[in-house]
Amino acid sequence: MLTRRAFLQNTIATSVAALSTKTDGFAIQDDLVIAGGRVIDPKNNLDGILDVAIQGSRIRAVQANLDISNASKVLNAKGKLVVPGLIDIHTHTRFMEMPSICLSDGVTSLVDGGSQGADRIDEILAVARAAPNLVRVLLNVARTGITRPVGELMDLRNADVQAGREAIERNQDLIVGLKARLSDTVAADADLEVVRRAQAIVSPFNLPIMVHVGNTASPLPEILPLLKPGDIVTHVYTQQRHGIFTDDGQVLPEVLAARDRGIWFDIGHGRIGHITWETGARAIDQGFLPDTISSDWSVPGSTDQVFDFPNVLSKFLLLGMSLSDVIRCGTINGAQVFPAFRDRGTLSVGGPADVAVLELREGNFEFVDNEHTPRTGNKKLVTTETILSGKHVPSA
Ligand SMILES: [Zn+2]
Repeated sequence: MLTRRAFLQNTIATSVAALSTKTDGFAIQDDLVIAGGRVIDPKNNLDGILDVAIQGSRIRAVQANLDISNASKVLNAKGKLVVPGLIDIHTHTRFMEMPSICLSDGVTSLVDGGSQGADRIDEILAVARAAPNLVRVLLNVARTGITRPVGELMDLRNADVQAGREAIERNQDLIVGLKARLSDTVAADADLEVVRRAQAIVSPFNLPIMVHVGNTASPLPEILPLLKPGDIVTHVYTQQRHGIFTDDGQVLPEVLAARDRGIWFDIGHGRIGHITWETGARAIDQGFLPDTISSDWSVPGSTDQVFDFPNVLSKFLLLGMSLSDVIRCGTINGAQVFPAFRDRGTLSVGGPADVAVLELREGNFEFVDNEHTPRTGNKKLVTTETILSGKHVPSA
């Protein structure tokens, strides 16, 4: 004799089966399945041949041998890498097309690293608002934004606390922190005062600051105590004076201590004075990996040294980092630095379906550092497809 509970279960099972056969109404219908690629999702400790199923703008499932018979579209990723949409936390977004260019390289979230200050922040915010991908902005500590050839902090009045606070107050939806360039060509010998003003600007909003180091008047151990947990040091592998190394080439104990108390160390590859093969290899050989790899992408960089984000990531494979560490530094770690990206950088089920499909090409590839020294690598990451909020963006 059936118990009441077993009877009910039987009834439900039968009716579901009946519906399913009749209309297929209960068969799972995915909008897109990225099938058969090597999925690397460091946040979830995934590295294996898996299928990624997407419904609408969300990830529905990540598992092996999914039933793809009902999928509206199947993207064959056999032989390719399937990773979370890339996150580049230091770029320069000075024109409208820039976010779309980066999107076709797999970059679904990015940060403008202080191109503009309070006076002209609306220009960058307009780009961020119009962007298809998720673009957030660091306000420059100088109200003028980046200026050349005379640096923006040569006149210290540009580091205007009130103007900075007002700009953030008006735009808290898009401004996620502050940027301060501290090199002596920008700030002369006022680097420490600039950091204090930067902290004063963000303090009512509880936002991080990103400091650009290398060739600063003050040694890094004098700058680091002015940073709070969550702040970011960019150009961490700079070859210029007052970088992260002691005179005999060891990572400074103050740098290790700063990491321990929650300061992030970012690459900011760029073109001038930010990284050489020697500094990168020295740090990595000592186990001092970056928290985030970022491109410091700019228009000149798009045809010199940087090119695109996957190209920058590839250089760290050449420097000896593992593929999963490189992907981690270009995805989930950026999401941990900026809460605006908190649900990105991973392929977690239920999360936004931002995905990059990459080829890991094998051959001989020449890369150059900031001193134009060539090195030949045997692996190169190239984006072939991007999925943004579930929508397929073919790469150029
Ligand atoms: Zn920059």
